[in-house]
Amino acid sequence: MPECLFCRIVRREIPATIVHEDEQALVFKDITPQAPTHLLVVPKKHLDALSASSDGDTALLGHLQRTAAKVAEAVKLSSFRLVTNNGKGAGQSVDHLHYHLLGGRPMQWPPG
Ligand code: 5GP
Ligand code: ZN
Repeated sequence: MPECLFCRIVRREIPATIVHEDEQALVFKDITPQAPTHLLVVPKKHLDALSASSDGDTALLGHLQRTAAKVAEAVKLSSFRLVTNNGKGAGQSVDHLHYHLLGGRPMQWPPG
């Protein structure tokens, strides 16, 4: 049975360039960067998407946002975008909750 790609990265079964790790989160470089800085902020716990989270995940979700802010500061990004694609129609291609942390170039709004 094919296993979740990001769970495999969390378990170090697939290599990734990891820039931060703690008990609950892993942050690594996106393999197809869309900006000079393009990191993925991922919970170690598997959730299919943000919509699969429950009230019991509130602290984890807060932790992921704080982690993104700290990593952005560590890599000296004062402006950045933090985004999650929830569902195929929004562009989600990996069914393990992740936040894109993008920075290092001007950003347009709204995104396509
Ligand atoms: P989504 O399209 O689900 O919002 O984002 C998935 C992201 O995962 C994409 O930006 C894609 O480039 C990235 N990605 C897909 N496969 C891999 C991989 O094997 N390693 C890493 N580091 N990133 C990946
Ligand atoms: Zn997973």
